Amino acid sequence: MIKLLLLALLFFLGYSFFQALFPSGPKGEKGEKHQSNRSKSGEQMVQDPQCGTYLPLSEALSANIQGQRHYFCSRKCRSQFKKKA
Ligand SMILES: [Zn+2]
Repeated sequence: MIKLLLLALLFFLGYSFFQALFPSGPKGEKGEKHQSNRSKSGEQMVQDPQCGTYLPLSEALSANIQGQRHYFCSRKCRSQFKKKA
């Protein structure tokens, strides 16, 4: 009987060790939710300071001008804004 208990204990230890190695395991719902959060709606909109157009951050061209981060709808707007600045 004691042998059986020991075996169960070993099995339990092995199982918890396995879970520690793979924390997301088969029921990794948390990670999935976290990942899909970004690409869905609620994307940040930015304004092009040159022409005033609003566009999603993922489509905007970014540039650091005089220490400030600006976002543009096109390269044309970016170069025009740089000339002005
Ligand atoms: Zn523009």
